[in-house]
Amino acid sequence: MAKIVVFTGAGISAESGISTFRDKDGLWENYKIEEICTAGCLNTKRDETIKFYDLRRKDCENKKPNYSHLELVKLEKEYPNDVKIITQNIDDLFEKAGSTSVLHLHGFLKEIYCEKCNFKINISYDSLKTLYNECPKCYSFMRPNIVFFNEEAPKYEDLYKEMLDCEFIIVIGTSGNVISIDNFIRNPHSRIKKSILNNLKKSSAINDRLYNKVLYKKASESIDEIIFDIKEYINK
Ligand code: NAD
Ligand code: ZN
Repeated sequence: MAKIVVFTGAGISAESGISTFRDKDGLWENYKIEEICTAGCLNTKRDETIKFYDLRRKDCENKKPNYSHLELVKLEKEYPNDVKIITQNIDDLFEKAGSTSVLHLHGFLKEIYCEKCNFKINISYDSLKTLYNECPKCYSFMRPNIVFFNEEAPKYEDLYKEMLDCEFIIVIGTSGNVISIDNFIRNPHSRIKKSILNNLKKSSAINDRLYNKVLYKKASESIDEIIFDIKEYINK
């Protein structure tokens, strides 16, 4: 497992033009997220949920990775054994930046899977509603490969494994409302010796006093300093 974990959220993709959830003009303001992205929503609000994610997929098609995605992927390729990128994001901007090994904790927008037999397909930027409503294998419903609120997230197992060996954590663009990353630092068994927090502003769900360095500015304006610190840590 890598000793350096870069843990990212919606904020890292904001400068590519993808809305975050909770910032001003975020998706939370325009949609009833608690109704269409919550466990059970495929039974109660199926059409709205499918449409919401069809729109997110379309929205991603023309979005480009920004400087932060590109620099982090460059770093990951240079130090594949030392650096692990983990994201709560469902977009494909790290992949567009050239990565093949980012851990997506909450699913991946381009994938859908069968609710019954788990058959998974990558539909790229297509619409699930018009093209792939039925599983080609068992004819049950297909659903977006997204972990909704209150659903189990199978990839958290991998997150916990990665965090066991983590010595240096860099948190970029997450409000901490979904995953409490502070807990990994507070954990008495943690090996974390160094930590950086980068958000636009303070979040009530993150205790910034736990972090060695706090950067409240855009990720693109912080990433050079972050990469410098990571390389210094690796080469020390
Ligand atoms: P969030 O919306 O709760 O918080 C966004 C955070 O990013 C805030 O702390 C904000 O200060 C920071 N931020 C905004 N712009 C920034 C910038 N330019 N540089 C640095 N920081 C910036 O996001 P979250 O904590 O990731 O939780 C939201 C959940 O919704 C996650 O599970 C995520 O997967 C999902 N989501 C994903 C996407 C995506 O895939 N791009 C978009 C919206 C929501
Ligand atoms: Zn099936």
